Amino acid sequence: MNLLDYLPGVPDFPKPGILFRDISPLLANPLAFQAAITQLNTLAQQLDYTHILGIESRGFIFGSALAHHAHRGLALARKPNKLPLVSHREFYGLEYGSDSLELQQSSLPTDARVLIVDDVLATGGTIVAASLLLKKAGFTLAGALTLLEIAGLDGSATLSKNGIVNRSLLI
Ligand code: 5GP
Repeated sequence: MNLLDYLPGVPDFPKPGILFRDISPLLANPLAFQAAITQLNTLAQQLDYTHILGIESRGFIFGSALAHHAHRGLALARKPNKLPLVSHREFYGLEYGSDSLELQQSSLPTDARVLIVDDVLATGGTIVAASLLLKKAGFTLAGALTLLEIAGLDGSATLSKNGIVNRSLLI
């Protein structure tokens, strides 16, 4: 099974010139979704982590499935104004706009070694912002894991430059 077949590119979404990789076909196919989580778990085992930080919103899907599969705890990095007890906020640029992420201090134990999980690595801005959130909150970053890295945007190089160990299942 080639998981890339389940991540078709949608041209000009959400803006002209962007080829958006749609994860819906992968989620709709139980064998593909299960294979993705099993293979992500194999990659995650290379990183010494105790907890997962899922990034809203598609990182929640892969982060929670992996946390359940690997028996690890899960915390959520949320878009603005969703958390009742916001402790930290980080603004960042996207391939197609800008946004911010928020984290509650109480969502992880102080000694957590955190693996950031998202569906797609594009420029790397989102994961760098998530890593800064974790740093502000005093947690240890174990690394970052994504289902797919979009080639040609240097996301992996950007993460490395920021000292973030990262793995992607597909490129
Ligand atoms: P970055 O910050 O690395 O430029 O962008 C990654 C973030 O944008 C991720 O949270 C991801 O969900 C979203 N994203 C960017 N491009 C795509 C894409 O082609 N497909 C999907 N599913 N998400 C994308």
